[in-house]
Amino acid sequence: MTTTLSREIRLKSRPIGMPTAVNFELAQVELLAPSEGQLLVKNSYMSVDPYMRGRMNDTKSYIPPFQLGEALTGGAIGQVVQSEHPEYKVGEHVLNFMGWREAFLSDGRGLNKVDVTHIPAAAYLGTAGMPGQSAYWGLLDIGKPQEGETVFVSAAAGAVGSVVCQIAKLKGCKVIGSAGSDEKVAWLRDVLGVDAAFNYKSVDKISRTVKELAPQGIDIYFENVGGEHLEAALANMNLNGRIPICGMISQYNATIPASAPRNLSSIIGNRLLLKGFLVGDYAARATEFYADMSQWLAEGQITLKETVVEGIENAPSAFLGLFTGSNMGKMVVKL
Ligand code: NDP
Repeated sequence: MTTTLSREIRLKSRPIGMPTAVNFELAQVELLAPSEGQLLVKNSYMSVDPYMRGRMNDTKSYIPPFQLGEALTGGAIGQVVQSEHPEYKVGEHVLNFMGWREAFLSDGRGLNKVDVTHIPAAAYLGTAGMPGQSAYWGLLDIGKPQEGETVFVSAAAGAVGSVVCQIAKLKGCKVIGSAGSDEKVAWLRDVLGVDAAFNYKSVDKISRTVKELAPQGIDIYFENVGGEHLEAALANMNLNGRIPICGMISQYNATIPASAPRNLSSIIGNRLLLKGFLVGDYAARATEFYADMSQWLAEGQITLKETVVEGIENAPSAFLGLFTGSNMGKMVVKL
C-alpha cells in the first residue's frame, strides 16, 4: 500500500512569556492511503494567528489548549490529492482546520470547498477569510461607521487591521493607522490610501500623536493591540464613540499585568461603547461577508497582501514574527 509522509509541528513545551523555537518540534508521520469514505489533503498554505499564543497556555478559554507532544491545529487551505469520498474530487481546494502539517487524512468533516478561480488560495486565510471577516464584522456591526467619521486602527498594517482600514475608507471615513515600522506606515499611506499613519515605536507618546492627526477626535477605535494604544484611543474618543475590541496582542506574552489603560473612566462621560467579539459569533452570516468581499476584490477596491514564509520547518518562526511585527498583511506559511 502506498503511504504519504507528512511533516508537522508539535508543541514541545508551554511558553512562559514570549515563545521561542524550543517550544516547538518538527516531526514526521506516515499517512496510509485513504480508505472508503476518506480523502487525503495536501495543505498548500497554513495560517499563523496571534490567538494561537493563548492556546499554548494550559488554561480554560473559548477554544481548548494545544496538547503537549501533539501537532498544533489551525486554519489551512489544501488540495485533495486522493479521494475515496463520494463528495470530494482530486484537485478540489478545501479550507480546513488541520494546519501546522503538510498533509492529513479526513472523512470530510470540517472541510469547506472553496473556489480559487478569482480569489487566490492564500487569501482565504487572510483578507477573504477569518481575519477579513473579523475586520468586516467588528467595523461594520460594532463600529457602525458613518461617512465623514474618524476611525483609528491599531496593528493597521496587519491581516485584520489592513482590511479595517480599507473598508473604513470605502465607507467614506477618515482613517488613521498605527504600525510598527516606517515601511508599514508608507504602505498604509501610499497603497491603502489611509489619511494618516504613524510608527508607534518612534513617537514620544501615542496619545499626543493621535491628537495631532485627529484634532477633531476619534469616532471609532478598532482595537487590535491593547495597552498604551487603548489608553491613547480613550484619551481622544468623541462622544458616543465605538470601540470594537478584536484583540490585544500587546498582552498575549505578558507575564505582569498591563500598566495601561489608566483612563477607563472616560468611557462614562463620553458614553462610549466597548464591545469584544469573536469572528465565530458571525459564522451564520458568512455569506454576507463573502458577497461584499468578492465584489470589492473583483472591483479592485480591496488590496490583497500576504507575507509568505516557505516551509513547514519555518512555521514556528513565522508565528513568532507576529509578535515582532515581521508581517505586512496576512502572515501565511507556504507548504
Ligand atoms: P496581524 O497580522 O496584525 O499581526 C500581528 C501584528 O501585531 C504584528 O505584525 C505587529 O505589527 C503587531 N504587534 C505585535 N506585538 C505588538 C505590540 N506589543 N504592540 C503593538 N503592536 C504589536 O495579526 P491579525 O491581524 O491576525 O490579528 C490582529 C489582532 O486581532 C490580534 O490581537 C488578534 O488576536 C485579533 N484577532 C481577533 C479575532 C477575533 O475573533 N476577535 C480574529 C482574528 C484576530 P507592528 O509592526 O505594527 O507592531
